[in-house]
Amino acid sequence: MAAADSQSAHPQKPAHPLEAVERRVADALAALSLEQKVRLLTGADVWSTHPEPAIGLRRIVVSDGPVGVRGEQWDERDPSVCLPSPTALAATWDEPLTERVGALLAAEARRKGVDVVLAPTINLHRSPLGGRHFECFSEDPLLTGRIGAAYVRGLQASGVGATPKHYVANDAETERFTVDVRIDQRTLRELYLAPFEQVVAEARPWLVMAAYNAVNGTTMTESPLLASPLEDDWGFDGVVVSDWSAARSTAAAARARLDLAMPGPTGPWGDALVAAVRSGEVPEAAIDEKVRRLLRLAARVGALEGVAPAAPAPAPPPADAAARLAREVAAAGMVLARNQNDALPLDAASLQRVAVIGPGAAAGRIQGGGSASLHPHYAVSPLDGLRAALGPRVDVRHALGARIHEGLVPVAGDQVTDPVTGEHGVYVRFLDAQGNAFHEEHRSVGRLIFIGDFRANRAATIEVTTRLRAAEAGRYRVGVAGVGAYRLTGGGQVLFDETVAPDKDDLAAMLLAPPQRAVELTLAAGQEVDLVLAHAVAPGTPAVAFSLGVEVPALPDEEELARAVELARACDAAIVVVGTTDAIESEGFDRSSLALPGRQDELVSAIAAVSPRTIVLVNSGGPVIMPWRDEVDAVLLTWFPGQEFGNAVADVLLGAVEPGGRLPTTWPSREEDVPVLSTKPENGKLVYAEGLHVGHRAWARAGVTPAYPFGHGLGYTRWEIVGVDAPQSVVAGAPVEARVRVRNAGARRGRHVVQLYLSRPGSDVERPVLWLAGFAAVEADPDQTVDVAVTVAPRAFAHFASGGWQVEPGVFTLHAAHSATVLTRQAAVVLLDP
Ligand code: BGC
Repeated sequence: MAAADSQSAHPQKPAHPLEAVERRVADALAALSLEQKVRLLTGADVWSTHPEPAIGLRRIVVSDGPVGVRGEQWDERDPSVCLPSPTALAATWDEPLTERVGALLAAEARRKGVDVVLAPTINLHRSPLGGRHFECFSEDPLLTGRIGAAYVRGLQASGVGATPKHYVANDAETERFTVDVRIDQRTLRELYLAPFEQVVAEARPWLVMAAYNAVNGTTMTESPLLASPLEDDWGFDGVVVSDWSAARSTAAAARARLDLAMPGPTGPWGDALVAAVRSGEVPEAAIDEKVRRLLRLAARVGALEGVAPAAPAPAPPPADAAARLAREVAAAGMVLARNQNDALPLDAASLQRVAVIGPGAAAGRIQGGGSASLHPHYAVSPLDGLRAALGPRVDVRHALGARIHEGLVPVAGDQVTDPVTGEHGVYVRFLDAQGNAFHEEHRSVGRLIFIGDFRANRAATIEVTTRLRAAEAGRYRVGVAGVGAYRLTGGGQVLFDETVAPDKDDLAAMLLAPPQRAVELTLAAGQEVDLVLAHAVAPGTPAVAFSLGVEVPALPDEEELARAVELARACDAAIVVVGTTDAIESEGFDRSSLALPGRQDELVSAIAAVSPRTIVLVNSGGPVIMPWRDEVDAVLLTWFPGQEFGNAVADVLLGAVEPGGRLPTTWPSREEDVPVLSTKPENGKLVYAEGLHVGHRAWARAGVTPAYPFGHGLGYTRWEIVGVDAPQSVVAGAPVEARVRVRNAGARRGRHVVQLYLSRPGSDVERPVLWLAGFAAVEADPDQTVDVAVTVAPRAFAHFASGGWQVEPGVFTLHAAHSATVLTRQAAVVLLDP
């Protein structure tokens, strides 16, 4: 055809590259039988789609983000760059920086043979109890949308597909597979769909992931919301992929605008869908459109022969580029919430002895748990980072102070020796039903995860062997974290042989945070014990995940606390790193409390009482209650800061860089003050009864002062908003270009995020008291005054009613602000009828 065209007497204009892609896709589609088409619509395995060599289609590989790209294996031998959590990224309020993160992730994806990253997560922080809070950006739809769009642009500009998720209203984890979220149309459009709309409009993602939950009675993989507004109103032309195992029906899901059911190879489509098409229950045209979109995705990522990918693969970044970016983003996202008498930055020259205390001091939590977790290349702890930065002149000492990790930790490091290779770690054998080993390998950690993996698929038994050495005398606990049948022997004696029952009904939580079974062993210092853990794999299981773990002897809590207090008393400054654990903040369940676990609150207060300078670092993905916050000199919120945690902490504490973050979410003083708290469905339904009033909007409405408001963050200089100018009137539908005059009133150069909020006193329509309408970053030298342009998009003035976007002409007030509660200057804007 193409040749005939080009020889015709009236040659047509060369096809636009996009038309050429669509033609190639259409040709490929036309060459497929119904069976072949339907086969493409379910994954080939857990992380990839089916190839179809007849049409030059290779498989498409997907992998979880958002902090890095894990790849197809969950294996410490194939580590990944680990960047700060999305809460940290949102706290930067920095779109160019987020785009650079996206570009780095694209390079990581390419390095691992991944075409599509299953990120960003753009659900909202509706309640601070949400278990995946750390993985979402913000409580505010505008900030979420802008950071989300930047993330998608960064990835896709380098030819790797992004997957904004989970569409829609997957804002909590309790009963996440079945919960029916009840939301009115206006709230849905203005809050929960808004980030998706913005990301689709501004960044054109190649995929969107349909959530597990239902909205207003229909499970999301069958929901009409997939067609409208996603495609019909916003023009989304990509693939809707199900969340893992969220596709639950043959015909209803196929008639909806779901394209790809993951994971595979089994699922509700396959032969049943072929039959449904043959019987006329599902139109073949619907199948064709799904396949067309899948082939379009293949073309975009370079998986369809003869079509150049939408963007060339990025050159692999220089070895240290990832580390530098991870360090930069971590510091840029850290929020200095409190800094009494300029306690920070520390003057390194005046320090002789520094105490680094707390459960996160020597082993900080760099990432959240669940499907987003990965094996980092390394993790720099605050203790390591500060020691490296302060050098040998300063005596940096450590005390644990409080224990928060209870139970088994996977064996690792010099604690264990692989008896076969002699290296640190464990030896793993995979035995078939006859007891013959068909595969063997050395592993450096006792945590093993095989999802859709040949080893687990074929094995009847997986056997883990190691030699544990007691570093000190005392009572150890050894055992397994996992579900199913386990037999553990120590020194040839059977320690236990039993079946561990699941303690949760969420598959991801069960695999990634399983129940534990352990026995106590009393060991002398230096004593060795040979351990063999055998797991009988349940036939046909798609995923196996368990750890051989140990809990080492610990000091009594009182003694741990007393040691830390004595250390702090003897030092010039105490840096106390407190935080959450995987057991209380992770995927698959919501938090039951905002309190710090263990005796960390007591620890901080006790240190503050004796130390001349107490700096607290809060290492959590979402808000925690800080009853001691007025007792300490400084509070730095670090989030889960990725592999460069300690180096970024040192940069910030010693003043090499500013803590650049501004809160993407309100931090409460007390749990009972939180306006929207419960994530517990009643009779299977979670009613978003608060409507539009979520996050800072809800705090403003309740008139309660939080510990630290949305948008707050101090940095190392002081800022004044001198004035705000905006046009006095604007025709509805046009953006408002405001100018904010800002002065750096402090003593060092810095960066500030100027926020614009809108209010509409006396409105005829129900509205939030205040809503975020725009923001921009400004940099200035001491005493310098600069003008910064802030655009307020027309949408900020609109509300959703009667099935469409409406405007209410009249006077809106624009507030230039440092945070949602520190509003400084105002300008009135009259919105005129179009
Ligand atoms: C999560 C998704 C994730 C998927 C694949 C699901 O349980 O909700 O966010 O992308 O697993 O790991």
